[in-house]
Amino acid sequence: MRLTPKKIEKILVQILGHEGLPLIQSLIGKENVSEFDLATKINYDIKVVRRLLYTLYNHNIVAFTRKKDKQKGWYIYYWTLLPESIKFSYFKRKKEILERLNERLVEEQQELFFVCPNDCVRLNFDQSMDFEFHCPECGELINQDNGKERIEILEIKIIELSKEIEMLLKQRQTKRKQVKEKARKTEEKAKEKVRKKSIKKVLSKKKVIKKMESVKKPLKIKKEEKIVKTVKKKIVKKKVAVKKKEVIKKKKVTARKKATIKLPLKKEVATKKPTKKKMNSKKVLKVPSKKKLKKKVEKKVKKN
Ligand SMILES: [Zn+2]
Repeated sequence: MRLTPKKIEKILVQILGHEGLPLIQSLIGKENVSEFDLATKINYDIKVVRRLLYTLYNHNIVAFTRKKDKQKGWYIYYWTLLPESIKFSYFKRKKEILERLNERLVEEQQELFFVCPNDCVRLNFDQSMDFEFHCPECGELINQDNGKERIEILEIKIIELSKEIEMLLKQRQTKRKQVKEKARKTEEKAKEKVRKKSIKKVLSKKKVIKKMESVKKPLKIKKEEKIVKTVKKKIVKKKVAVKKKEVIKKKKVTARKKATIKLPLKKEVATKKPTKKKMNSKKVLKVPSKKKLKKKVEKKVKKN
């Protein structure tokens, strides 16, 4: 159902009566209309405008906001029509009418009716009994009414109305589905955002850790370099003892296997060390032990 202004007028006049038509027309397509502006525009008393608006409000067809008038100290109400509520009200009304039509159909099918030949009245059996089957208006004898035509008309009306209600129901369902689908999608998007954010956080934490590590490493290396330098100096001083040291070291190295690969040439060891230490901190720990080794070797050499 498309809510054209004409349709809105028709639906709301059924609620307010024709008195409300100018008010309805002033509200259609607008938002937050001051009740005082409405009153002056349609030239109604403010009390009448308020009564009509409250009737619409009781049918959930309008919403209001209010603002305090700073100079006068009272609240001014601003009114807006609610299209979805108008649709719902229309739907509700149609259902009520259908209910009444069905009741009347049952009545017509089950009860007996009597009519005046002058078309003054139509009475059911009990009422006809009360008037002894005479017209209370003109006194004519009343006759049993053949309700066939009425029943047919009622049945047609009921079928039409049922179809319309069914259509409205379908529209409401599809609308609800759309709303739900939209809500689901927005929820999914929100979840995805949260997920991405948490991933970003983890990544940034990792980055920070990496940075910290990369800051620490050079310090270690510097220490290692110092050790290497001291080793170098000692090597230079004791060049004479080199050959004998070599022999002893070779034995120990092979015993440890992977500790250090090449020791025979001390100069090479000294120069290669920094790169090896970058790769593995465990190897760094072995440097002091080598130092000790060398000292031991030196002592032995001295004794000899
Ligand atoms: Zn009559």
